[in-house]
Amino acid sequence: MNIDFIVLYLAAFIFGSIFGSFACCQAWRIREKSEGRNLGKHSVCLHCGAKLKWYDNLPIISWLALKGRCRNCHEKIGKAEILSEIGLGLVFFAIAYKYFSGFETVANFFSSPVELLVQPLILLVAFIIYWIILIYDAKWGELPMLLMLLEIPFAIIFHIARGGNWLYAGIGTGLLSGLYYLLYFFSKEKLVGGGDWLLCISIGLFLGRWEFAIIELFLSNLTATIFSAPQALKKEKKQIPFGPFLILSLLAILLASDYILKFFIIY
Ligand SMILES: [Zn+2]
Repeated sequence: MNIDFIVLYLAAFIFGSIFGSFACCQAWRIREKSEGRNLGKHSVCLHCGAKLKWYDNLPIISWLALKGRCRNCHEKIGKAEILSEIGLGLVFFAIAYKYFSGFETVANFFSSPVELLVQPLILLVAFIIYWIILIYDAKWGELPMLLMLLEIPFAIIFHIARGGNWLYAGIGTGLLSGLYYLLYFFSKEKLVGGGDWLLCISIGLFLGRWEFAIIELFLSNLTATIFSAPQALKKEKKQIPFGPFLILSLLAILLASDYILKFFIIY
């Protein structure tokens, strides 16, 4: 592999982890705001309110250096921070790999048509927003409406840049979103929450094909079932948030889309 690719993938991971830190922060800010509090402009410790120094804000490194505790009050910061940073770092790396690995040099990629250049850029921005939604849902079991609506125009631009088929995208989105709406409506929020069908609009458009929508349905339900199995065995009646499974399944299908098309979907 060329050295420029190694630099590029490393840069993608570092940028991803910076945005992972940002996403975690934003999730907290939205939460505090929804409860009528304001965290202010600076990053602060949620326990003691101490302002964080720049060197305590470095993604991954600061968390490891401080062993996951606040420098001032030594309270635990929580694992969500570092998981978010590593996680989004890997997402950025994977998106960069998907789009760049087919090229001889990095420069070759940048001389490709604008439609191709736009696609990874939109995906990166969309997954920063999805990451905030994922953290918010995982932590508090709710989906931030504004962010879900914000994803829709990104998904539309992505579908245009990809030169996708609108009929197939429409059928897939209708299937996914419609099914979750019906489940929500008829189970009176017992099976799925009120926001999942809205989240599925952008997910369906990003997937862009009805076959992918069916795989999404299968994959998200399978992973959610596996994840909630230990809780079900303990007979804890806690509803697990479904948003993270929908978002991670979307990511997996987008990353593997070329392989899925090649092996399973023949036209
Ligand atoms: Zn503190």
